[in-house]
Amino acid sequence: MPSDPAPRKRKSPEGGWHLIRHGQIERAFRLAKRDFAAARDAADTQAMAASLAQIAWCCALSGQPEQGLDCAIGAKLLWRRLGNRAEEARAAAVEAFLLFDLGLSDEGFEAADDAVAMAESLSDASVLAFASCMRAIALSLCRQPELALPVIRQSVRIAEQEGDRVMLSFYLLNFGFCLIKRADGAAAEGDLADEEKWLGQAIEATEDAIAAAAEVGNSWCLRAGLGNVAELYARGGDLLRAQERLATWGEVKGRPVQSLKIHYLYTYADVMTRLGRADEAAKASRSALKLAEKTGQTDHELNAVEKLAQAYEAMGDFGRALTMQKRFHSLYVKQSGETTQRRARVVEIRLETERLRARADELASQAMRDGLTGIANRRAFDAELARLTGQPLAVAMLDLDHFKAINDRFSHMVGDEVLRRLAQILTAHVGAKAARLGGEEFALLLPGVGEREAGDICETVRAAVAREDWADIAGGLAVTVSMGVALTEEGVPGDELLAVADRRLYAAKALGRNRVVGGDDMREPGFSRVPARR
Ligand code: GH3
Ligand code: MG
Ligand code: MG
Repeated sequence: MPSDPAPRKRKSPEGGWHLIRHGQIERAFRLAKRDFAAARDAADTQAMAASLAQIAWCCALSGQPEQGLDCAIGAKLLWRRLGNRAEEARAAAVEAFLLFDLGLSDEGFEAADDAVAMAESLSDASVLAFASCMRAIALSLCRQPELALPVIRQSVRIAEQEGDRVMLSFYLLNFGFCLIKRADGAAAEGDLADEEKWLGQAIEATEDAIAAAAEVGNSWCLRAGLGNVAELYARGGDLLRAQERLATWGEVKGRPVQSLKIHYLYTYADVMTRLGRADEAAKASRSALKLAEKTGQTDHELNAVEKLAQAYEAMGDFGRALTMQKRFHSLYVKQSGETTQRRARVVEIRLETERLRARADELASQAMRDGLTGIANRRAFDAELARLTGQPLAVAMLDLDHFKAINDRFSHMVGDEVLRRLAQILTAHVGAKAARLGGEEFALLLPGVGEREAGDICETVRAAVAREDWADIAGGLAVTVSMGVALTEEGVPGDELLAVADRRLYAAKALGRNRVVGGDDMREPGFSRVPARR
């Protein structure tokens, strides 16, 4: 099972990923939740995405898949917005892992495939290793374990090449899991020799995982590996080894996450039953059951109830064994009902996050649009001007003539309608390059045009405004505009274009309005010339 999707993201030795790498999941969880609250208060999207990813992974490692899924999908969408494809791919891989844990293999398969496709397009080896690991689990769960093995081997190889022992232990653990699924396949076909072969390999891979985890002090992988390998030894009939591995489990320092503790308890119960120590088995199963009930994990509850039934049977207490078997059956029914509910919940989470994302996009685009006219606002104009600076560019400033008088004579509402109509006329002539800077002032950005063309465009706009039938807004209404134009081509520096255009607009007003004023070389008639520099 898993351990660390972004090993190189840690900020300080005390950071969340450092804790996760050492299996201190609960501490990392608390830290990540605190980081998330701070990031949200500071509206720091990057920090929000990073802490959400950590929370999701902590949930995955501690058996809280439902909460984790929300966070993984949230992190994925935030990274996408931020354009960080590598982190987006990691979050998709974590999402896949959580979906497996929820019993939603098909959905997990899709998420893992997305993650692999992203990782491949990035050619980022460590992301590819992590995503491939999820893909291998998906293949194993979807009854294609033979396809899973080369995929998980690739993850192991990458971690070895990168010298990342933490991820190596995690991949080896999952390599073991894929091999168990092969053994299960062989057992289902009644091929006992083949089952034994795969079981042997699964033990080998899991022991390698344990060694790597012990070396780097990753207690999560260490416990997970010891629990798994004990189960495998018991399955193969080597009860002494199984007992020895469980004893080692008990010696691992630090607090285990609940899901690993529950797994340990019912594996211990199984070994005790096989050893004929049914009392101890029943005791351990009951503890496992209690913990599973507390954490609300039906899968764990099922396993604990099964082991308890076996222990009662071994004790000869058939009445209680029967009660447990009945309980096992009803839990089984409950679990399939839960799977259906979870499937619906995943659709809901996805819809909800899509809706939030759409809303965020909408807000972002609203922030760049003028509320009254719907065209670009000052912020959008400034951003576009900054983006275009350095290229040949013309900027025109435009101001309504005697607009105050229009408001006074016809009403403010008519004034607003004039502003909207003017925005339409500008858009019709220059498209998205028109912006309302504020009040009754507008601007046009004309990239790549020469003096002559800029002059022509402005003159066309001016004439179109003067020619427009304004009387349909209010009888007797007539509207004209004055414009000032400046071009980089005539030697005006990019950052001064707006100031020069504004000065020329002022000149247009002074010269009698309803006209365009450009630089020295601007063509007559219709234009007046004002030099770029005073
Ligand atoms: P000039 O030809 O010199 O530009 O004269 P003007 O009357 O257009 O210029 P002035 O700056 O004196 O007045 C601008 C007016 O624009 C004043 C203000 O009430 C009006 N105005 C600014 N924003 C809006 C708006 O959103 N809606 C309406 N209806 N009027 C606005
Ligand atoms: Mg005006
Ligand atoms: Mg004005």
